Amino acid sequence: MDYLAGLNEPQRQAVLHTEGPLMIIAGAGSGKTRVLTYRTAHLIQQGIDPFQILLLTFTNKAAGEMRHRIESVIGKEAKNIWMGTFHSVFAKILRFEGEKLGYTSNFSIYDTDDSKSLLRTIIKELNLDDKVYKVNLVLNRISGAKNRLISPEQYLNSAILGEEDRMARIPKMGEIYRTYCIRCFQANAMDFDDLLYQTNILFRDHLDVLNKYQHKFKHVMVDEFQDTNVSQYLLTKKLAAVHRNICVVGDDAQSIYAFRGADIQNILNFERDYADLTTIKLEENYRSTKNIVAVANSIISRNKNQLEKNVFTSNEIGDQIEIIRAGSDNEEGRMIASTIFETKQKEGLHWSDFAILYRTNAQSRSFEESLRRLNIKYRIIGGLSFYQRKEIKDVLGYLRFVVNQQDEEAFKRIINLPKRGIGDTTIAKIAVTAAENNCSIWDVISNIQTYQGARGTAAIENFADLIKSFKIMTEVEHKDAYEIANHVAKASGLLRELYEDKTVEGLARYQNLQELLNAIKQFVDDPENEDKSLATFLQSVSLLTNADTQEDPNDRDKVTLMTVHSAKGLEFKHVFLVGLEEDLFPSQMMLQSQADLEEERRLFYVAVTRAEKKLMISYAESRYQFGRLKSCEPSRFLDEIDSAYLKMAKTPGKKEVQAFRPVQKTGFVSSSTSPSAAQLIQKPKQNTNYQHVASSNFIPTDPLKLEAGQQVEHQKFGFGLIKKIEINGAERKAVIDFEKGVGEKTLLLSFAKLMVK
Ligand code: ATP
Ligand code: MG
Repeated sequence: MDYLAGLNEPQRQAVLHTEGPLMIIAGAGSGKTRVLTYRTAHLIQQGIDPFQILLLTFTNKAAGEMRHRIESVIGKEAKNIWMGTFHSVFAKILRFEGEKLGYTSNFSIYDTDDSKSLLRTIIKELNLDDKVYKVNLVLNRISGAKNRLISPEQYLNSAILGEEDRMARIPKMGEIYRTYCIRCFQANAMDFDDLLYQTNILFRDHLDVLNKYQHKFKHVMVDEFQDTNVSQYLLTKKLAAVHRNICVVGDDAQSIYAFRGADIQNILNFERDYADLTTIKLEENYRSTKNIVAVANSIISRNKNQLEKNVFTSNEIGDQIEIIRAGSDNEEGRMIASTIFETKQKEGLHWSDFAILYRTNAQSRSFEESLRRLNIKYRIIGGLSFYQRKEIKDVLGYLRFVVNQQDEEAFKRIINLPKRGIGDTTIAKIAVTAAENNCSIWDVISNIQTYQGARGTAAIENFADLIKSFKIMTEVEHKDAYEIANHVAKASGLLRELYEDKTVEGLARYQNLQELLNAIKQFVDDPENEDKSLATFLQSVSLLTNADTQEDPNDRDKVTLMTVHSAKGLEFKHVFLVGLEEDLFPSQMMLQSQADLEEERRLFYVAVTRAEKKLMISYAESRYQFGRLKSCEPSRFLDEIDSAYLKMAKTPGKKEVQAFRPVQKTGFVSSSTSPSAAQLIQKPKQNTNYQHVASSNFIPTDPLKLEAGQQVEHQKFGFGLIKKIEINGAERKAVIDFEKGVGEKTLLLSFAKLMVK
């Protein structure tokens, strides 16, 4: 196959430029990922050993897809490329080399829940107030320190950090950090940040190891370079230091992980760090229609902080971007599900041609309900994924403990599961005994009589015997992951406990457990997996990112639901970008500065640029949040799009909208009167409320003149009927029954600023 024929001139240059540092910073859909794929195939065709190529991707799934494409050019050899996320590649290196740092090769990987649980234990042990030392805050500080390569000792010695912690009233933060690291180490466990942090330490303190990998990797490539943090950047740079064949591709306009420490500065540093750098620009977008590209360009041009780029496309003009207005979040779900249903039939598409993108995982509910009602198959990426469910984590807890008996968090999870009468006090006592004797928890429980005498130890001894029998299967008989997991699920009693629970939830949990066993069977049967051990299976599970899914490869024709963050790098024919409302997108929680607003806008840009043929953007006028119905304003980002590219969607839900908000009353124009897009989304220039200004025939009034039976309009709640006026001294209140599901509210009239006809 002549792969060079599928590239334009600058792309071809990038593929053929194999020696020396290379950077491609280019807009969305311009073929950056395609260049990396073809470049890797090209290198192998030029005789480079796949083992000598390191290719870092954003998700494991992206790595898998690239591997398949490379395979189609060069064949099976593609299997041997070192390819994956930073975390998975460095976890692999740490499995080989971790002994140098005192870890064994079967170390556990703690997920966020494990880290939090350990921190809770430590905060309690140090007698600190968990309302002050909030576990999320503490974990964030630790994560931040690790990502900046600050060790616990450096932390404790840093006057600046100490001062920050005193100001935040958490002066013991350094001590928590130190204890946390010691405990992870004793548990032979690394958390997610450790996978980068410990690799940095490994390369810093063991130059022979660094040297080995520096010579090994003749070529280092990084996709989505804009989202690497300092620690990732340093690792990449070190690994490429000998051969200096480093190629990074990215788009500063798509940098969306500043909150996790990704630093756009890396792109600028790259130019400084490599004086002989070749920079290639890609300007042609192959993904999207002219309209979509124009909208994307107009969005991002509002950001002050960006490198200059010119993106164009030779693709067709395409349809205008459609705006869908829904009365409520449920209606938004219904309108979009039925649009997908109709479009698929009309245009003969697949379900997998559609994606619904939202700002936060919590928004998925209304879409799930509506899709299910229409029997549309869908998959959710991220959110509370399969592997985060309790029953799954319970079995995985057992499996983790079989592989690594120092794993304190796995131990705490399973010691009394199913219930065997071992109480919290006993568990705490075991932990203390282990700490006092400077040995592992396993040492204590497998010799419990030595430590605690013969009384009341039967339950613990039984547990230890159970684990020992699992260990024999693993370490002596070398059974594969499936055989062990299957046996553990039965022998532990977990499977039986769920089987005996005949409630609907119990049944679902039982099925999930069976599903886990199926997944392990698939892993074992997959010819691509040479190592079928339990440890390897566990590692692959702990490294799944939010954007990865475990799914049946024969059943991929589904609508995709995911957050915009997870959608990075992907593309779909039809994209529904939903929940475009103030406070939701841009997210109120993230908005603290102009820089935050720019990051939200980049996120909006990422979302828009996922669409190939058609983009629809929706917002709801009210939605349930934190158990309350809240009225919503369309997002300011809608105002930022040039109205020439927009039109109002003619959706099946149209009638519902009209019933909800009569045209003559609200001043909103419905699709039947063919409004211009500008009319539809124009937000008042002053900081007044959208609904308020839109309704021209209501005027402000003196609160003293209001009476029962009058129609009023409120800035937030919309239209309503006054049911009664209550007077209490100087205080006047009105009980008002508001329309469109807002319901009855009692408002203080001096504040309410009501308008009347
Ligand atoms: P993003 O910034 O979103 O990650 P990207 O720059 O990585 O985008 P790709 O995903 O590599 O872009 O490419 C976008 C789409 O355009 C893909 O479907 C790809 O196959 C196609 N494409 C890229 N270059 C060409 C080309 N020269 N000819 C035909 N199609 C191309
Ligand atoms: Mg890409």
